[in-house]
This record gives sequence, structure tokens and C-alpha cells, in this order.
Amino acid sequence: MLQVNNLTFKYKKQPILENISFSVGAGEHFSIIGESGSGKSTLLKLLYGTFDLNEGNIFWKDKEILGPKHNLIIGPDYMKYVAQEFDLMPFITVAENIGAFLSNFYPEEKQARIKELLTVVELQDFANTKVKELSGGQKQRVAIARAIAKQPEIILLDEPFSHIDNFKKQSLRRSLFKYLKEKNITCLVATHDKDDVLSFSDNMIVLHEAKIMDEGTPQHIFNNPKNELIASFFGEFNTLDTLGIVYAYQLKKVNTSNLKATVKQSYFKGNYFLIEADLNGKTVFFEHEFALENGLEIYIEPSS
Ligand code: ADP
Ligand code: MG
Repeated sequence: MLQVNNLTFKYKKQPILENISFSVGAGEHFSIIGESGSGKSTLLKLLYGTFDLNEGNIFWKDKEILGPKHNLIIGPDYMKYVAQEFDLMPFITVAENIGAFLSNFYPEEKQARIKELLTVVELQDFANTKVKELSGGQKQRVAIARAIAKQPEIILLDEPFSHIDNFKKQSLRRSLFKYLKEKNITCLVATHDKDDVLSFSDNMIVLHEAKIMDEGTPQHIFNNPKNELIASFFGEFNTLDTLGIVYAYQLKKVNTSNLKATVKQSYFKGNYFLIEADLNGKTVFFEHEFALENGLEIYIEPSS
């Protein structure tokens, strides 16, 4: 188990993280979300032992993770960290980069392992391409493959799919997270993408103003958004006087109700339209199966 106890950290005067405590079980998939600048990357770097803490401590099982004051080499050997800015060796091939830290003692096993890793990140066709010729997203996938090459006990992923386009993102995400679960590799992901979290995370925390604003399972946090910041992570929402926070999908058009609104705009979303409407001077959003004419008066109510 990874155990973070009362962690406080500052780069300068202002604490970036203050009195943070949480734990992550072995094999668990754990997400760290929060706005840009909320300290997600800093937290991952601290878990990797990149900086010394101002207060608190971090343990993996019974071993304390210590910073540079206590370690010549940063990063425990059972842990891998894929930074937002991945650093690869540009002049050698994808396969060579992935195999860089694997033993040469069993060349056949090594080649088989590289092939398996190429499959996980869906780069089979690029095995012999030099890294300098890859796109940002392809480089990010090489960095991920290299991090899992030696089967760490824990992997820290900082916005792992941020450079990867939508064509590849969905299947890559499933493939990587499935692989990590199968191998029982504990995985911590800093992300601002709800799709990295909802289907995959066992637990999550929300960072805000140096503190943990909320924590729990994605289902619980999605279904009980504590405030507008948390709701906004998951999608379009409304804050209604009578009902509190209601996601757009939870409101529907009905024949009559006590919420009368005027349509302002319809947005095509693929399998539905997002309708923007005016409700007593306030903008509300709800989903509907087809576009509605601007200016149309309608009634809405929460769907049960
Ligand atoms: P996130 O990953 O959530 O976007 P970061 O952890 O990168 O957030 O940054 C958190 C805060 O720490 C930001 O205000 C950022 O400007 C600051 N920060 C990050 N790295 C450094 C650094 N090396 N020195 C000083 N301040 C930093
Ligand atoms: Mg970051």
C-alpha cells in the first residue's frame, strides 16, 4: 500500500500542497484530478522522491520514499514515472528505447517482451522508426511502454494521453489500463480528462487550493458532486435554486412544469443535442434528441 501522511510541500513561500493524506492499495488504479496549477504534477514528483517534503512522509509498504537529501539517485527502483515532458533517446529506434533498460542476457525473451510492450501501446508498426521521427503522441506512447518494460510495482502517469489524438486515445487507454490491472501494477494518474477516470479508477482525489477537496470512488463523486468545480470536471451542469447541482443530462423537456425556459441555442453533440436555454435570466443546459428552434418557449424538469 502507498501511504501519504500529512504531506506539505512548497517550492517557495506558498504551500503548493498542504496536509495531504491518502492511501492507495496495491494494484489499485487511483486518479488525481484538479485544475491546472492545482499541484497534480508536483504531487506525482513528490511520490517519486524528486523533492524533499516540508512536512509529512510517504511510504510504499514499509519503505519510506525519501527525497534527494537522502538519495543520490531519484526514484525508487520499484517505481516508474512518466512525466508530462517525457524524455526519450531521439536517435535510436522505438524498439531500442523500449528495450533500453531490459537485460541483453536473453535476447529472444527480450525481443518477445519488446513486442508485447509495443502491442500494449499500439506501436507495432513503428518498432524500427527512430524516435526523433515520431509525433508527440507517439513519443508519449514510447515513454509509457518504456516505463512498464521492467514491470514496476507502481507507475505514476502524468496526463498520459495528453498528446494522443482521439483516434487512438480510447483504445490505448483501455489497453494500457487493462494491462496494468492484469499485472497488478499500482497506478496513479494525474489527469484533467474524465474519461481517464470514470471507467478505470478505483478511487480518486480532487486537489484544490493545496488541499484535497474531495475523495472517493468516481461513481460516488460523479453522483454527488460537492460543488460546481467538481461537477464541471464531469460535464455540463446547472445550479438551480430548487435542486442544487443538476447535470445537463438530468434535465429534460416536458409538456408542462414549473420551470419555463426559452431556447437560446442547440449544439449538435453526436447522439444528442445540448440545448442552451434561458430560465428567468439564468442560462440552463439540458440534453434533447433533436435541435430546438431559438426563441421557443419550453418546460423542463429533472428526469427521475
Ligand atoms: P498541475 O500539474 O496540477 O497543473 P503543478 O504541480 O505543475 O500543477 O504546479 C502547481 C503549482 O506549483 C503551480 O502554481 C506552479 O506554477 C508551481 N510550480 C510548479 N513547478 C514549480 C517549480 N519547479 N518551481 C516553482 N513553482 C513551481
Ligand atoms: Mg501537471
